[in-house]
Amino acid sequence: MAEQKKRILVVEDSPIVLKIIAHLVRQELSDIEYEVDFVDSMADAKKKIEENEYFAALADLNLPDAPDGEVVEYILDKNIPCIVLTGSYSEERREKLLLMGIVDYVVKESRFSYAYAIKLVNRLALNESIKVLVVEDSTTARNYVKGLLQQHLFQVLEAENGIEALEVYKQNPDLRLIITDYHMPEMDGFELVREIRGKSDKSDLAIIGLSSVEKGALSAKFIKNGANDFLQKPFFPEELHCRVIHNLESIELIQALNDAAHRDYLTKLYNRRHLFDAGSAHYATALPDKPFAVAVLDIDHFKNFNDNYGHEAGDAMLVHVGRLLNESFSRFLVARMGGEEFCILLPGLSQLQAYTLMDNFRTRFEDEGVYVGDEYLQATVSIGVTSIKGDDLDSMIATADELLYRAKEVGRNFVIGDDSE
Ligand code: GH3
Ligand code: MG
Ligand code: MG
Ligand code: MG
Repeated sequence: MAEQKKRILVVEDSPIVLKIIAHLVRQELSDIEYEVDFVDSMADAKKKIEENEYFAALADLNLPDAPDGEVVEYILDKNIPCIVLTGSYSEERREKLLLMGIVDYVVKESRFSYAYAIKLVNRLALNESIKVLVVEDSTTARNYVKGLLQQHLFQVLEAENGIEALEVYKQNPDLRLIITDYHMPEMDGFELVREIRGKSDKSDLAIIGLSSVEKGALSAKFIKNGANDFLQKPFFPEELHCRVIHNLESIELIQALNDAAHRDYLTKLYNRRHLFDAGSAHYATALPDKPFAVAVLDIDHFKNFNDNYGHEAGDAMLVHVGRLLNESFSRFLVARMGGEEFCILLPGLSQLQAYTLMDNFRTRFEDEGVYVGDEYLQATVSIGVTSIKGDDLDSMIATADELLYRAKEVGRNFVIGDDSE
């Protein structure tokens, strides 16, 4: 299931600048995700663009064979998001370029500006998975905002008023940002913000209100109604981009803090703490007449695995287990309890259903190893699975753990359930 790498084109004639960028690319862009081509002229850039499909380009405004930004025009013409590198700053030129639809404009003055340009590439890749809803009754204004967001590769959804917006939100609970006008028929921007805030937090879904300069008080009111930010119309493309990124970054930061508290750093699965916090709630709300199963899984002879292949290979194997568990049990809560032990909560599943799922996982895992460097490594797991609802989640996990140890005793690479006496 290897995803295709994203191809980036860097067009720059200065060998020194190219060297710095190449260094930053190695540092900032994962070579699993990206493939970067470097060229130093418009002629070579054209050749490359004809041969390949590019995700984004970084282009110098002045090249020997394209002294006046011709390469930028060419790149935009091919619908490739373009980040412009320029030797000198000119207000007039900057505006012209932004209106032409470049992603951003970076002055070549220090290492930091190149680092900024490279980070933008990562940002664009992130944006591709982010849904933004534009709520605006004027088609012209809506298309303008939509176009700007699309330049930054966001998935853009549209609504003409608050009512429509709520419907779109219902269909797309994974929305991350709403940009909304104030004055609209059916339901205005404030009402929309209040409705949305009844359903989602500022740290899950950002809202930016649009207001016009004449109605200055609207901006503050938007915030008081629960918007994260506002922007006064008319605005320059850059203003919108800055607000959008700023607000998304805030959400992402909160998300990262949240993850740090609830997820395991290595496998990105939920950690023990989350298992007991959220899991106990699952357990408590499970209906008495509905089944509930718990599985505990442990990698076999993992100490030997570490001894034979090294601790790093061991870590890679843990990540591999995490990934397969996530894939196989995406509907369920999967947690790393600690070390090489994992827990899966299976509400609604009978003993037989849970046992079957876990045994399928066991065989899948046995067959599907992982590459660490050039070496293909495999391991096996043992699993205990119980569906006897004890006094609480802790006691169910303890029972599953006991069954797991019996699976170890009978020879490992084995699943044992309540009734497999
Ligand atoms: P068994 O089949 O009985 O489970 O044997 P085992 O060797 O897997 O079990 P044991 O509990 O003796 O050893 C667990 C090993 O897991 C020891 C420890 O070094 C390793 N381990 C725990 N956490 C990590 C980790 O984060 N990374 C790596 N690489 N190894 C880990
Ligand atoms: Mg140059
Ligand atoms: Mg083990
Ligand atoms: Mg163990």
